[in-house]
Amino acid sequence: MSRPLNILFLSSEVEPFAKTGGLADVSSSLPQAIKELGHEIRIMMPRYRFISERKFKLHDIIRLKEIQVPLGKSVEVGNVKSSFISNLKEKVQVYFLDNAKFFGREGIYQNPVSKKDYKDNDERFIFFCRGVIETLKRLGWQPDIIHCNDWQTGLVPAYIKTLYSSDGFYKNIKTVFTIHNMAYQGAFPHDSFEKSGLPKSIFKPEGVEAYGKFNFLKSALCYADSITTVSKRYAEEICTSDEYGAGLNGFVSKRKKDLHGILNGIDYGIWDPLMDEFIYRKFDLKSLDAKLDNKRALAGRLALPFKETTPLIGAISRLVDQKGFDLVLEVLDDMMKLGIQFVMLGSGEKSIEKKFESIQKKHPNQIGLFFGFDNDLAHLIEAGSDMFLMPSKYEPCGLNQMYSMRYGTVPVVRATGGLDDTVEDHSSGGKGTGFKFEKYDSKELLKAIQRAVKVYQQPEEWKKLMRNGMMKDFSWEFSAKQYVNLYKELLRQ
Ligand code: ADP
Repeated sequence: MSRPLNILFLSSEVEPFAKTGGLADVSSSLPQAIKELGHEIRIMMPRYRFISERKFKLHDIIRLKEIQVPLGKSVEVGNVKSSFISNLKEKVQVYFLDNAKFFGREGIYQNPVSKKDYKDNDERFIFFCRGVIETLKRLGWQPDIIHCNDWQTGLVPAYIKTLYSSDGFYKNIKTVFTIHNMAYQGAFPHDSFEKSGLPKSIFKPEGVEAYGKFNFLKSALCYADSITTVSKRYAEEICTSDEYGAGLNGFVSKRKKDLHGILNGIDYGIWDPLMDEFIYRKFDLKSLDAKLDNKRALAGRLALPFKETTPLIGAISRLVDQKGFDLVLEVLDDMMKLGIQFVMLGSGEKSIEKKFESIQKKHPNQIGLFFGFDNDLAHLIEAGSDMFLMPSKYEPCGLNQMYSMRYGTVPVVRATGGLDDTVEDHSSGGKGTGFKFEKYDSKELLKAIQRAVKVYQQPEEWKKLMRNGMMKDFSWEFSAKQYVNLYKELLRQ
């Protein structure tokens, strides 16, 4: 098929409108990369209250109450607004499904103050999934492919294959579902299933039920025509063990022939040290010395003394169990004995913040912390650090290690998922880009940091690592082509 495809891309977070993690980055860059390949792709997401009408020039596409979505015994109404995201080459249209009751809030999934998930997340995302389908007909735009991302969009394939399957408008649409993180499943009680209006017959272990609950992610694993995840290694991991598959490994492995690992790319329009407006001094391979000025600025920003030859390790992360900071906490005192400095930008669990703060008090000149979400600081940490730490328990793809390599900041990572697929260990010869450890164990982490510090003391060898990372090509084009091939393959079937 050589005609341009029509693709609808669904996500609950899209940069620059709403972001809690890497999903937002991917949901912005991948559609742009697909559009650059000549296809018509549009994005749809919820319109959260904080998405400013004025800043993003939202305009009405479908007026108030014109979208009607059955939900349980009632009918909820919605409207659609629109805006664009654009890089230098292409503009992608973004539709926002608006309903003040469900999305007129300050958080995406949680109350930002209590940090508790909204109790009606089931209704919010049932409304979104079914609302998307209703909107398409109202728009009169018939995509060839609906590309869903994570559990919040997981009911769309189920609706298309059941409730809407006899409607000619939807009959030929193929669905792709991308797993960005298998651990977030959207599992709700049976009552929620009844609100969805899906046929009763599919609430069973071979269908949308998992462990007695209505599971949005499993609904997608069951009904999507094709399933992808964001690295080859993670695609294998989620099939093999309960730990990685978060209880759905048996089910996902049944669909192995439809499961593809496609590595995320990075958006060099945003993450490029030569163009980056957020950092103190721009640099590239030919001006590596300028990186030092960013190191100085970073130290200043986090109230640390600037020490030119002391290795500075950075970390930027959601503070959740997955990211492995329990390992860091176990050996942080020992890390300090190596004579390094450590800076961390984290958002998430308060209990993890507190533990870091108590250790920091003992090493005020070596540890700098900032808790909260701060995009500018994230860029400065990538630019100013010497090393970047990602000790994840599991990591579907991980973006920060790729950003780091682009900024000449050498990653120290656990060999899992996308971290394993993207980082080459220093010991592998002249092609090394970082340091990896296998076992989820704080002593192994410490050993990897020790190895890194030793190589740091050999400036020529270190520069080689930096250069190797900076020369890697993680651009989206390659991955976007793989998605398009997959779409085409599905449409040929
Ligand atoms: P995940 O999606 O699991 O959070 P990724 O490495 O794929 O992990 O992507 C994380 C993205 O979120 C990166 O763009 C990173 O810079 C950003 N990020 C994470 N925590 C913060 C924070 N506290 N402040 C700013 N950016 C953050």
